[in-house]
Amino acid sequence: MKTEIITVGTEILLGDILNTNTHYLFRELASMGINVYYQVTVGDNEQRLLNQLEESFKRSDLIILTGGLGPTEDDITKEVCAKYFNMEMEFHEPSWNKIIEIHNKMNRKPTKNNRKQAYFPKNSIILPNKYGTAPGCIMEKNNKVIIVMPGPPKEMKPMFENYVKPYLLKDNKDILKSKVLRIIGVGESKVESELLDLIDKQTNPTIATYAKDGECTVRITAKAKSEKEAESLISPISKEIKSRFKENVYGEDETTLAEEVAKILVENNLTIAVAESCTGGMVSSALINYPGISSVFMEGCVTYSNEAKMMSLNVKKETLNTVGAVSDKCAKEMAEGVAARHNTNIGLSTTGIAGPEGGSIDKPVGLVYLGITINNKTIVKKYIFNGDRQQIRNRACKTLLNDLRLELLKII
Ligand code: ATP
Repeated sequence: MKTEIITVGTEILLGDILNTNTHYLFRELASMGINVYYQVTVGDNEQRLLNQLEESFKRSDLIILTGGLGPTEDDITKEVCAKYFNMEMEFHEPSWNKIIEIHNKMNRKPTKNNRKQAYFPKNSIILPNKYGTAPGCIMEKNNKVIIVMPGPPKEMKPMFENYVKPYLLKDNKDILKSKVLRIIGVGESKVESELLDLIDKQTNPTIATYAKDGECTVRITAKAKSEKEAESLISPISKEIKSRFKENVYGEDETTLAEEVAKILVENNLTIAVAESCTGGMVSSALINYPGISSVFMEGCVTYSNEAKMMSLNVKKETLNTVGAVSDKCAKEMAEGVAARHNTNIGLSTTGIAGPEGGSIDKPVGLVYLGITINNKTIVKKYIFNGDRQQIRNRACKTLLNDLRLELLKII
């Protein structure tokens, strides 16, 4: 089945939003063995979208569109697709009731425009939207298929997973099962080169590596007649990859690094307090995302100024006057100071120069000291991170969480 993706939205063409829907769909479809040959973005314009459908169906059998299902006049995707297939629009009462229900929950009244979201091309398969008001739909005509989904990723992804995927796999007797291994502390090219022998001889399962936000993921996908068979195909490969990357594999599937760290803290009843300067609360926020962390997380302070570092953490004036706030010594005093405030097992600290200003030859932008106090023993590590202000802060946050994870693995 030759497949093409059309993302609809002038916002994408203007660079106002990043087209992440295609990235997600490319990956998902590839893992299902569906070949995507083209991807196009069209603005919210009826004629250009009609022309594009005409063009795309000369070369593809299945077209997946996202965006333009909202209630406003410029949301035209469903209507234009129906026009292209020469299908009438029909009112769908259950979808309308759902739209009313969503509005009621938000204490709002649906507008006349919202009614448009409950009209669908005749005989189309309606795809419910659990997370928004715009349902999607599937239209079939003369062996050609159009699938329309909403633009917001948090609505589109579950719709794809729950309804589109089963539809696309309905004639496929095999099932596809994936396991994702999450790796930190090793770059993507290194991960790929370490796995080259496995990647080169892959058939079933397939192995794909991706890099994102300073981490690397390896997706192992097996095609099989049953879950059990798929698992038995995935398991030896997963074991082999884990044995190559050892503790750099921090988790599997949908977990996050912060979640894994928080889990270790909670399960081992290790109390923690965090003092942050350049990361401005990111480390605390990442840990607090984990439900149940309240049993061990005592405090997160954003001690940005020298005064705050002295007042809240007992950082010595002398330290600030001699080696400065961005120093090994200051990070040590911060971590120890915050741990002492609550007598916690663990104290964390971050201090650095996130830029773009404020760097010098001795202390360049990207220089960050990360401190960890565990049971009265303190380790401070010096890093120089690349990237802009946000990337440096993100990397500092992730690196500290990973350093903590590695330290925790030694003591639990
Ligand atoms: P709504 O019902 O919210 O109006 P819609 O289906 O009409 O949804 P659009 O209006 O096209 O979708 O886009 C709504 C929002 O969804 C965009 O502002 C953007 O945040 C997100 N979005 C749309 N298309 C994409 C895309 N291709 N990649 C990532 N995000 C997208």
